[in-house]
Parts: sequence; C-alpha cells; structure tokens
Amino acid sequence: MQIDYQIKYSKRKTLNITVERDRQIVVHAPENLSEEKIKSIVLSKKDWIMSKLLHTQKYPIVSDAKEFVSGETLMYLGKNYKLSILDNDIDGVEFDQQFKISSNNQIIANELFKKWYKAKAIEKIQPIAVEYSENLGVRFNECKISDMRYRWGSCTTKNNLNFNWRIIKAPLFVIRYIVVHELIHLMESNHTPKFWNVLSIQVPDYQKAKNWLKKNGHLLEVDF
Ligand SMILES: [Zn+2]
Repeated sequence: MQIDYQIKYSKRKTLNITVERDRQIVVHAPENLSEEKIKSIVLSKKDWIMSKLLHTQKYPIVSDAKEFVSGETLMYLGKNYKLSILDNDIDGVEFDQQFKISSNNQIIANELFKKWYKAKAIEKIQPIAVEYSENLGVRFNECKISDMRYRWGSCTTKNNLNFNWRIIKAPLFVIRYIVVHELIHLMESNHTPKFWNVLSIQVPDYQKAKNWLKKNGHLLEVDF
C-alpha cells in the first residue's frame, strides 16, 4: 500500500495528519522533522488513514460530484478532453477530440459517461488480452469490465479476467501493463521473480507503467 501525502511544515511542535475532503492526506509537521521520520510516522498510522479514506460518506468520492458543464475536462487514454454541452440532439456521448453531449442529457451525464467508458474499456482491453494470451500461451475464459473501485484488475480461478472500467482513463501503455499483469497471474499467481521476468519480456516498459499508476492512480479511483 502506497500512501501519497503532502507535507506542510510549520512552527508547530507536534505532527498532525489530516485527511482533507478531497482525500488528500496532509501532514502538518514541525520544521526540523526529517522526511524519513515523517514517512515512518505516516506508515504507523496507515490503518487510521485507510479507515478515513474508505469513509465515503464523510469523504465523498470527489469526482462523483463533477459537474458536467461546458469546459469541464474528462480523461480518456491518458489525455484530458474538453466537454461541450450542445443544444442539438446527441445520442449519448459523442467523442471526436472532445466530448459532446446534449443539454437535454446533462442530468443523466453521469450514467451516459459511465456507459461510454465501459464500452470503450472492453473495446480496447479485449484485443490486448487476446494478443498477449497468444504470446504467453495462456487461455482465459472471459474478459469482463467491472465496477470495483480500488483494484485495477483481477483474475479468477475460472480463468476469467476482470478489469476496472476506470483504467480506460489511463494511457494505453498503462492499460497494457495492467492486462498483461493479470494474464501472467493465470500461470503464476504470486509476484515471484519469475512473474516479473515474464512481465518484463512481454512489456519491457512496465516500470514506466507502474510509475504512472503510482503517480496518477488516484485519478482513476474516481469516476470521472
Ligand atoms: Zn499482481
């Protein structure tokens, strides 16, 4: 578990951790406290922090409250695209280097976008799963898109692959890493040296993808 936090130094004497409403973790620390020491204190409070983060009522998933208004941006394959609300009739979500929906649909924009993202997720993920299952010589049953929030992907004992639809917001190289990671789990269930070895052969830039997730993963945890 990786905890990202922001340190704010001040003349205070004690360290204090707060979880902001947007789920940012802020550590208020005395000026002379080393980053190392702060890190170890934060880690010792991990359970408390997690319980705060999972308290969705007090800390609502911020982007669920995203306003679908013109000028708002939405992420897709690692890039941000502008949303335009138009007065003419548009069936669902239209995408062409920008997102367009009809003003009549503004009220159900949340549903429309979820549906659009899920459709794109299966469209992009399925071929990657097929391609790499052939490379690896592993078989999977079904590739499904699901609504789990805090995991990017998983595989089941029935050789099904599940992917969080929100990963479609990430760049393709990250999606490829997530898909191949789960495929390799079908033959190697743990993160053994063999696992990483096979992964590095299939996805040579996987470390770049891991870094991207570490830095931007929180953007995928919210819906939009
Ligand atoms: Zn894994």
